[in-house]
Amino acid sequence: MKLLVMGPPGAGKGSQSKKLVEEYDLTSISTGEMFREAYKRGEKLGIEAMEYIKEGNLVDDDITNEIVYQRLKKKGPDSRFLLDGYPRTVKQAEALDKMLADIGSRLTAVINIVVDYDAILERMVGRRVCKSCSETYHTMFRPPNVEGVCDVCSGELYQREDDKPASVKNRLNIYESKTRPIIDYYKGRGVLVNINGMQSFEAVYSDIKRALRELRHD
Ligand code: ADP
Ligand code: AMP
Repeated sequence: MKLLVMGPPGAGKGSQSKKLVEEYDLTSISTGEMFREAYKRGEKLGIEAMEYIKEGNLVDDDITNEIVYQRLKKKGPDSRFLLDGYPRTVKQAEALDKMLADIGSRLTAVINIVVDYDAILERMVGRRVCKSCSETYHTMFRPPNVEGVCDVCSGELYQREDDKPASVKNRLNIYESKTRPIIDYYKGRGVLVNINGMQSFEAVYSDIKRALRELRHD
């Protein structure tokens, strides 16, 4: 299975992707996570990317395409993967098509999580992430057992710089102008599935699973 999970920032892509990756045994390719990990390791790529990320801007297409290509190429045509947060521009979607053709692969499904504007704001502003293991919480909708402490590894929870109000508006504007057009790019290929994200975590997940059952897998 080769999945792409789309949706505005804060829609719940990461939360749903984590479960899908575990259940279907997929390689997770989250470009946002890759940039943040590279930053944590002090790598040049991460430090440069963070300049864009913290302001809510997109990282350069060529740089982003290259890190995805390296990951996909290593996995080969039989790989089972889930792309989360990539592609984010039509140029990236075109590059992804070329990469997949290059390794003899194609997407099984494009899952588009649809969420209201107000819910997006609420979800982004309340998101808290573990500094050590990246587990994601929400102050209201998924609070940890002990405030500020990760249930999984006892790491410290923090608010992402780009979830602060100054960056959030910019991210949403960029989503509308650069990322939303990708939905049209995938329309008509028989792989696009719209999922109602305005439901509980569990209900969104079961809708995704139902949609996947109805599509042909490889
Ligand atoms: P994305 O990866 O699309 O940016 P996340 O999965 O990180 O989104 O979710 C953003 C925030 O919203 C997180 O704090 C998460 O716990 C919360 N969240 C995700 N899905 C739901 C949901 N169905 N209901 C309520 N809160 C949710
Ligand atoms: P995410 O973790 O998916 O919310 O991504 C966090 C940030 O990383 C985004 O707001 C962008 O700044 C950057 N980023 C992640 N994926 C991409 C991408 N495909 N293209 C450009 N920038 C990206």
